[in-house]
Amino acid sequence: MQHFDLVVIGAGSGGVRSARMAAAQGKKVAIIENRYLGGTCVNVGCVPKKMFVYASEYREKMEEAKGFGINGQVNDFHWPTLRGNKSNEISRLNGIYQNLLTGPGATIFNGTGSLIDANTVHINGSDGTEQDITGDSILIATGSWPFIPDVPGAEHAITSNDVFDLADDAFPKRALVVGAGYIAVEFAGIFNGLGAETTLAVRKDLVLRGFDDDIRSFVQEQMIEKGVNIRPETEVASIDKQTDGSLLVTYTNNEQQEFDLVLYATGRRPMTDGLNLEKLGIELNSNTTIKVNDFFQTSVPSVYALGDVIGTPQLTPIALAQGMKFLAHQYHGDTTPMNYDNIPTAVFCQPNIGTVGPTEDECTAKGIDFDVYESNFKPLKHTISGLNERTLMKLIVNKANNKVIAAHMVGHDAGETIQGIAVAITAGATKADFDATIGIHPTSAEEFVTMRSPRS
Ligand code: NDP
Repeated sequence: MQHFDLVVIGAGSGGVRSARMAAAQGKKVAIIENRYLGGTCVNVGCVPKKMFVYASEYREKMEEAKGFGINGQVNDFHWPTLRGNKSNEISRLNGIYQNLLTGPGATIFNGTGSLIDANTVHINGSDGTEQDITGDSILIATGSWPFIPDVPGAEHAITSNDVFDLADDAFPKRALVVGAGYIAVEFAGIFNGLGAETTLAVRKDLVLRGFDDDIRSFVQEQMIEKGVNIRPETEVASIDKQTDGSLLVTYTNNEQQEFDLVLYATGRRPMTDGLNLEKLGIELNSNTTIKVNDFFQTSVPSVYALGDVIGTPQLTPIALAQGMKFLAHQYHGDTTPMNYDNIPTAVFCQPNIGTVGPTEDECTAKGIDFDVYESNFKPLKHTISGLNERTLMKLIVNKANNKVIAAHMVGHDAGETIQGIAVAITAGATKADFDATIGIHPTSAEEFVTMRSPRS
């Protein structure tokens, strides 16, 4: 039986980072994967999604161009070309991930891993072979999986696992997206931009619970302005497939609407199926994520877990940082826990959201006495593009020490802008530091250093 210093189950963002860095540090590493190298992010998540977001922007760009004296139009959207080019790039990335692992000497096992005991993993190989391997430590990095609520006809709906590889003729003319989180608003923008008549069914009144309320209502208005039919307080009661293949959706208020495609984006559950966690007595949290201590150790000391499967924010950069922290603790004596403060994040809806730090509501709940600086404006480009797109920027400043504690933005390339602001906030910059920073003119980003008066 082969023995390893570290056996990693799952070759997504967290698993690959942990495995390849451990191997590069001279450890004997095995990594087991039953689907695709790179996990959700590379294959059916962040990377192909961003490609689709780019694709979805061209139609509007052609509209904008008219204001600049450039006349053109989008005559055709050829879905198989986008899908094919996306798949070629993802295959290239899969190869890079393979090299990142094998280069420093990690052994890749293609198959499904399940725990036999505290140091043994059984591999059900993709080629039909079965074997056991052992490890001083075992790291579970199996990620998460889309969750669809139990609605009659849910089998006719798809998830983000399916949407990237629709058949040649399956790109919808009429799409329903159910949900109000990251994936739902991003795909509503993608479908809408690519020409589908798009409806977003939101079960509460606003998209993106957990984001700053001003950002939520502003982005919702902007999405409606761009043509997404947002149905607040709407839940799906059933989905019926009709003889012509279309999907008849009945909402809980008995209204009905026909679609060619229904995408559920209603959250992701931890992927723990078949791992045998119960047999080993590995404790779970109440939401079925794996319970770990500050150093990613489960209730079985030789078994660790990180990434989406432990219930921390489901973001690739978090899994990567956890992988680095895990290794620092495991092999280099680091005893400091991972810092989850000030996680910047972007939502690639249209326009984008970029955010770092607490919302106004969170500040109030923490008893922080704060000022809000806000700017809501039409970006220079749209003064002649003819589009009504606006930008919203907010800074939250702690009155006690003048530190900027949050920045929220909706606008073009908000994610690109907020990454730099996140550095300043992490470094503890004060509002005076922002004020003393020279703006870059003319940009939208300069607003972050020119907002002078707090909101009354
Ligand atoms: P989220 O957890 O972001 O959102 C889930 C959404 O589904 C919520 O709006 C929730 O509504 C809604 N919902 C849950 N159950 C139901 C139901 N029964 N009926 C109707 N609506 C329901 O999940 P996503 O699937 O969008 O994304 C998963 C995670 O992936 C994200 O949290 C994020 O961490 C990550 N991600 C990150 C991206 C990025 O960084 N840009 C992009 C895509 C994903 P309610 O608010 O009412 O509870």
